[in-house]
Amino acid sequence: MVRPPVLGWSHLKSSSLSLLAKQIWGTLRSHLLRPARCCSQVPCARRRRNDALHPVWKGPVSMPGGTRQSPINIRWRDSVYDPQLKPLGVFYKAEACLYVWNTGYLFQVEFDDSTEGSGISGGPLENHYRLKQFHFHWGAVNEWGSEHTVDDHVYPAELHLVHWNAVKYQNYTDAVTGADGLAVVGVFLKLGARHKELQELVTVLPDIKHKDARAALGPFQPSCLLPACRDYWTYPGSLTTPPLSESVTWIIHKKPIEVAQDQLAAFRSLLFSVPGEEEKAMVNNYRPLQPLMNRKVRSSFQATHEGARL
Ligand SMILES: [Zn+2]
Repeated sequence: MVRPPVLGWSHLKSSSLSLLAKQIWGTLRSHLLRPARCCSQVPCARRRRNDALHPVWKGPVSMPGGTRQSPINIRWRDSVYDPQLKPLGVFYKAEACLYVWNTGYLFQVEFDDSTEGSGISGGPLENHYRLKQFHFHWGAVNEWGSEHTVDDHVYPAELHLVHWNAVKYQNYTDAVTGADGLAVVGVFLKLGARHKELQELVTVLPDIKHKDARAALGPFQPSCLLPACRDYWTYPGSLTTPPLSESVTWIIHKKPIEVAQDQLAAFRSLLFSVPGEEEKAMVNNYRPLQPLMNRKVRSSFQATHEGARL
C-alpha cells in the first residue's frame, strides 16, 4: 500500500498537486508493474508449504536435544553410495492385514505382528523387522504433501511402512524408544497413472471419513505399493509424529509410485474431526523438515547425472 504523504492538502497549489499526483502515480505504477514473485521457486514453495502446516506443528513440538530428527531434505549430491548395502528383502503376508482406521491425523492400515511372518530384512538392517502398520502423509494440493524431499523437490504424498525389531524387543511399544527399534520404509507418490492396487484401499476410505472410524480391510498385499525399482537412500532418524523417538532406520525409495488425481482427492476427503464437530478436511498432515546435523545419507545405488529429475 502506498502511504499518502502527510501534507496540508488545502494549502497546496494546483501545480504542486499535479506534481504530487505524478509522484504517487509513479510509486503506484512501480508497485503494479513489479513482477509477481514466482511461486514455483523453491524458497517460495517451501514457505507456502510451511504456512499450510497442521496446527500440531505450529506449537512448541520439538525433541529437546534431538540430533537425528525426521523428515529431512535428501541431497542427491551429498548422499554417499555404499556398496555394502544389500537389497531390501520384503516378505509381507496379505493375510496379516487387519483393518484401516482414521487416527484423526492420517489413515493407517494395521497388521497382525504377533508372528514373525510379515516384515523386512536385509538392506541396511541387521535384524528382521515385523510390519506393524502403514500410513500416508499428503497435502491439500499437489504442490506439497510428502514429508521427505529430494533436492528440495516435494511430492504430493508419501507412504510409510512401519516395522519393529522383533529380535531385540518383545513388542512394538518397547521398540519405539529402543536403539535400532524401528525401520520405516518410505515411498513417494506422484501424480500419474491410476494405481490399481491402491484403489482397493481408496474404495474403503468413505467408511472411515471421521476420526476414530475403522473398517475391515484385507487380505491386502502391501508390497504392491512399492516401486519396481528398489534403489533406496537410508539414514538414521526419528518418528515424524509424537513421541518423535530417535529409533528409526529410514529406507526411502528413490523412485516414486504413480497415483491418479481422484485417488489423492479421496485421501483429502477424509476428516480430522469426529461426527458432529465442525468438519475439517484431513490435509497437510506432514511434519516440517528437520536439520540433517551430523548425519550421512547413504544410497544403495550409484548417483548418475540423472540427478534430481525423477
Ligand atoms: Zn509417517
